[in-house]
Amino acid sequence: MKTYAIATIPGDGIGKEVIPAGQQVLEQLAATSDRFRFDFENFDWGGDYYRAHGVMMPADGLDALLDKDAILFGSAGDPDIPDHITLWGLRLKICQGLDQYANVRPTRVLPGIDAPLKRCGPKDLDWVIVRENSEGEYSGVGGRVHQGHPIETATDVSIMTRAGVERILRHAFRLAASRPRKQLTVITKSNAQRHAMVMWDEIAAEVAREFPDVRWDKELVDAATARMVNRPATLDTIVATNLHADILSDLAAALAGSLGIAPTGNIDPERRYPSMFEPIHGSAFDIMGKGLANPIGTFWSVVMLLEHLGEDEAAARVMQAIEHVTANPALHTRDLGGQAGTATVTQAVCDYLAQTA
Ligand code: ATP
Ligand code: MG
Repeated sequence: MKTYAIATIPGDGIGKEVIPAGQQVLEQLAATSDRFRFDFENFDWGGDYYRAHGVMMPADGLDALLDKDAILFGSAGDPDIPDHITLWGLRLKICQGLDQYANVRPTRVLPGIDAPLKRCGPKDLDWVIVRENSEGEYSGVGGRVHQGHPIETATDVSIMTRAGVERILRHAFRLAASRPRKQLTVITKSNAQRHAMVMWDEIAAEVAREFPDVRWDKELVDAATARMVNRPATLDTIVATNLHADILSDLAAALAGSLGIAPTGNIDPERRYPSMFEPIHGSAFDIMGKGLANPIGTFWSVVMLLEHLGEDEAAARVMQAIEHVTANPALHTRDLGGQAGTATVTQAVCDYLAQTA
């Protein structure tokens, strides 16, 4: 029997509702498994911690995560605290500190979900977006001078290193090779950004030689948005820079039907450090504390967490339970047009897991 050490960081807003729901699902799995148990440690970092201590997480916080097998994260964001503090002080601090350089987002139209593209069912939209998560446009390098003057100047420097680009492209090719269609689209803006983006194209061609089984093509990011809407079935695995993939993956989540469903993994493919799994939605203060949050994005993140641990069978069971729930409109939360609450959906997933154990 294995025991996996899992850190839970609910963070802010509805993170405090969906992360306990995710833990409940993992506990339900463990209750009937003779393979594994979970040892959870909860960290109360986020906006409330900031109000009490002046920081989003303690200075030695990363050390407390190092011996974990995985991290389940909720959301960081608080209407009373500036975004750059909530974001850089917690989530990005963990992503960068643990060098989780690959942000991976599966997107699929689940059964029973009313996706905005009417011609688009589960077979037409099945993507994984790989986002560079450690450098690029969000490197944090830049500055402002002459504030308030006519000559005021500001820069955000996008940093792309050969090592950084090579490792994310290699991860994307590897992921593409592991999927049935073995297809990768490399997205850049190399017609207008003529230095780093041209380097991406060159490195993509180099790395592609290591993966002769993968069919790959290049697309400019603007054209890619149109292709996602007009020809979704022509895409499978997608890789792009930090900024480009940030935008594309929100578009992808919306096309799949709801922000409340989509999961993401912040992965260290080399497994030097624990990886972190989280729903893509934010803290959603408008619905917090009301039991209305859709927990499916967290459950799908749990699926990714289990896959990362190598527990593929358990992961597949949770995915099946999710699809069982989404297929039933009576179990849809308000964001999906239904009436069900967080607790009802969570219980339905746990019941299904208990019945199919
Ligand atoms: P943040 O500032 O942390 O990004 P936010 O308030 O912008 O948080 P988002 O997560 O970006 O919230 O979501 C936008 C809106 O979508 C929310 O205000 C909420 O109404 C809805 N929403 C998001 N996630 C969920 C969910 N899991 N269940 C139900 N509704 C959701
Ligand atoms: Mg938001």
